[in-house]
Amino acid sequence: MLPQMGCEAWVVGGWVRDLLLGRPSKDIDIVVEGSGIELAQKIAGELPGGQKLKVFKNFGTAMLRIDDWEIEFVGTRKESYRSNSRKPIVEDGTFREDISRRDFTINSMAISLGKKNFGSLEDLYGGLEDLQKKQIRTPLDPEITYSDDPLRMMRAIRFAAQLNFKIDAASFEAICKNNSRIKIVSIERTMDEFNKIMRSPHPAKGLKLLKKAGLLKEFFPELNAMQGVEVVSGKAHKDNFYHSLQVLENLSQRSDNLWLRWAALLHDVGKPRTKQFDEKAGWTFHGHEFVGAKMVPGIFKKLRLPQDEKMKYVQKLVLLHLRPIVLSESIVTDSAVRRLLFEAGDDIDDLMTLCEADITSANKQKVKRYLRNFELVRQKLQEIEEKDKIRNWQPPVTGLDIMETFNMGPGKEVGIIKTAIREAILDGIIPNEREAALQYMLQEGKKLGLTPVKDVN
Ligand code: ATP
Ligand code: MG
Repeated sequence: MLPQMGCEAWVVGGWVRDLLLGRPSKDIDIVVEGSGIELAQKIAGELPGGQKLKVFKNFGTAMLRIDDWEIEFVGTRKESYRSNSRKPIVEDGTFREDISRRDFTINSMAISLGKKNFGSLEDLYGGLEDLQKKQIRTPLDPEITYSDDPLRMMRAIRFAAQLNFKIDAASFEAICKNNSRIKIVSIERTMDEFNKIMRSPHPAKGLKLLKKAGLLKEFFPELNAMQGVEVVSGKAHKDNFYHSLQVLENLSQRSDNLWLRWAALLHDVGKPRTKQFDEKAGWTFHGHEFVGAKMVPGIFKKLRLPQDEKMKYVQKLVLLHLRPIVLSESIVTDSAVRRLLFEAGDDIDDLMTLCEADITSANKQKVKRYLRNFELVRQKLQEIEEKDKIRNWQPPVTGLDIMETFNMGPGKEVGIIKTAIREAILDGIIPNEREAALQYMLQEGKKLGLTPVKDVN
């Protein structure tokens, strides 16, 4: 349809790159010499309904939605930058100018939709060759490219992690030089890219690059601070940053769950603050799981990550990450297993996956032994859960039951009795059953000087 309209237009950027890489994508960007909005309106007019057109006048763009395809139209433009903002001054420009403002050669290829050479690949900066070489390179001077829009530094590393590409040496040098300019990018944009790294097949690769380029220290100092090894009296501790990356990498082979990956990244974040050296015991990090869990809300807030149950989930896993190890090391009581089931609830399987990923020893025998131990913990968890149903804890006796039995309103006593019943069940004093819990309630009420007014049987 486009050639007949007689306009010069191109599909450009990510869709072309992904087509050549064989990665299916439903986001198409079309640039046109002239008005993107007018072209989109014309096309929408020719199509037999069912599609949705959205016009963004201020940006000079229009978005056409056909089924689950999103096609964005915009006129070719050029950009110029000021030093204090990553937002450029945008003006109409030629196709060549439009292409040369793009971040990477692999993102600068276009497929013509015009009459003369419909379907041909326009590759002004050697993007195809870089795709083959698997490298990230900027079309223009990398110094200027990254300095103009520092978000591109995050994007370079994100593509390296997503596509398993390397960053061209000149590019990487320019990123290192400009790292502190990431500060002019909003934390939301930075974290969008960070989370794309976290979701990628090899997040540790991206994180290593962020560290190496000096970007991590700019926006995520708590993680950056985990790097380093101290030696006292000839004793060194392990590098907690690279250990965490290995755990993240192990976990990412087993799970795509972004927040579980975050828990892997942060599980030891409390270590720098709890590090101590003892001549006898060597390096210790006592309580790092508590300190780490306490740090999670602040980190999430600063990085503008969710403050809801996703954060609480990460916090919980950080807090509990040592518990299954304890269960595997000693002869465990049923009560310890019940307590972990109670605290972890439905996240118990994720916690076990995290713990298994936390085994980073290079000694294969050791790894095997630890994994076998965890298998035993899993079995034990399953056995106890089948018997006692603790995972989805619902108190067998409610506050209302207690109030009705002793004819009283809400108050301290209700809480005391409820807690006593729960503790008795977790300790195995009574089974997790209503009948036993009611009897226990009467007994506890009596201790508090309460008299039942209702027959509980
Ligand atoms: P993905 O959609 O997988 O995130 P993408 O490359 O399509 O990757 P978009 O943000 O959709 O990324 O951008 C579309 C195109 O716009 C890119 O391919 C690139 O040509 C250009 N582009 C995007 N962001 C920038 C930027 N910060 N600087 C220069 N060009 C950019
Ligand atoms: Mg895209």
